[in-house]
Amino acid sequence: MTLDAVLSRIDTDLPQATERLLELLRIQSISTDPAFADHCQTAADWLVSDLQSIGVTAEKRETPGHPMVVGHVDGDGPHLLFYGHYDVQPVDPLELWDRDPFDPQIEETAKGPVIRGRGSSDDKGQLMTFVEACRAWKSEHGSLPCRITFFFEGEEESGSPSLVPFMEENADELKSDLALICDTGMFESRVPSIVTMLRGLLGEEITITAPDKDLHSGMYGGVAMNPIRVLTRILASLHDDQGRVTVPGFYDGVPELPDDIRQQWQGLAFDHGTFLGDVGLSKPAGEQDRTPIEMIWSRPTCDVNGIWGGYTGDGFKTVLPSKAHAKVSFRLVGNQDPHKIRNSFRQLVRDALPADCEVEFSGHGASQASTTETTDPAFEAARVALTNEWNVPAAYVGCGGSIPIAGHFQDILDTTPMLVGFGKDDDQIHSPNEKYDMESFHKGIRSWARILDALT
Ligand SMILES: [Zn+2]
Repeated sequence: MTLDAVLSRIDTDLPQATERLLELLRIQSISTDPAFADHCQTAADWLVSDLQSIGVTAEKRETPGHPMVVGHVDGDGPHLLFYGHYDVQPVDPLELWDRDPFDPQIEETAKGPVIRGRGSSDDKGQLMTFVEACRAWKSEHGSLPCRITFFFEGEEESGSPSLVPFMEENADELKSDLALICDTGMFESRVPSIVTMLRGLLGEEITITAPDKDLHSGMYGGVAMNPIRVLTRILASLHDDQGRVTVPGFYDGVPELPDDIRQQWQGLAFDHGTFLGDVGLSKPAGEQDRTPIEMIWSRPTCDVNGIWGGYTGDGFKTVLPSKAHAKVSFRLVGNQDPHKIRNSFRQLVRDALPADCEVEFSGHGASQASTTETTDPAFEAARVALTNEWNVPAAYVGCGGSIPIAGHFQDILDTTPMLVGFGKDDDQIHSPNEKYDMESFHKGIRSWARILDALT
């Protein structure tokens, strides 16, 4: 009954909510370019006063970079935290935009109305879905349903340099029962999704040196060891013929998929033919005894991202090079330990080196995967709430990429993150002509109202 009142308030107030979002989108809060620092301040100020207008005690908190916005409302029941970011990506190449990226507007398209402008999907539109849900709740009930902390960042698109120190310094204030994060999308633009698995990442650059100078292959070819031959043999040995990674101990800590998640994923009817067809491919190339969706969400990988050495210019040069290089990365899942895998990989390379060869390594990042336990009943409650709003069974999904904030909530604040977002695959985030579907905005707001109702 009361939820219905909030939902119809959301429907009635959608034009005003859209106006507010357009206002926020006009602020040029590009975080990576110092020329826009004042605009980031303006966006933070705008959010502070918008939160204050719904009774939240909010303030701008300075950092060495762009400010955080933190707001609190007291209440009974669980303490929920909501995270979003108000900064946006740069807009260049500007000539590829059909309109001024900071003069947003509603456009009618074949698939329905969209909000066009930089930050509409990533992440201002998504951030405002939660704020608008709270506003509608407050106007129907006079207060919010529980204790809520609002936490908005202004450096997400530029590597979040102030985030970890800020979370550490303010851990007591930010620690909560559940951290709601709205910066993700819907599976295949149609299935409401809670992201519970994010893969980690480990990078290694290797350089193999054989002769101490480049040689002429007419004079030395045959007798001198060629480091490219050594490198390619080692790289080729990193997978077996079933697509499994051969680094010793690599699969330590890789969990099997729980049955309920496996069932949900089967229900997603993921069409790998289309997924691969879109990029001119047809056959999944990962572990052959795994489904394609497992390959991208719940299985670890090893990929060579770059390889060079010798002569690669126009024409031909019969060089027998001194050095060969490659960049290799690993996507990690479960409890795989990036440091152990780095050591094991390096040992594999050293063991495979023939006489007269030397190897140098340089590491690039090492982040563990983050997996959210969905045993907290809040997850099932949120999943049902999303299902009710979208009339499509919501799913716990993986994300092949990395969202560091989720891990920070877990590690620094001991707070479980719940990632729910309404972006669509064609939102063109980080690209020209970014948009957010009006459906995402409207039903996103309604989704949060349902989730708040379900959690309190
Ligand atoms: Zn984002």
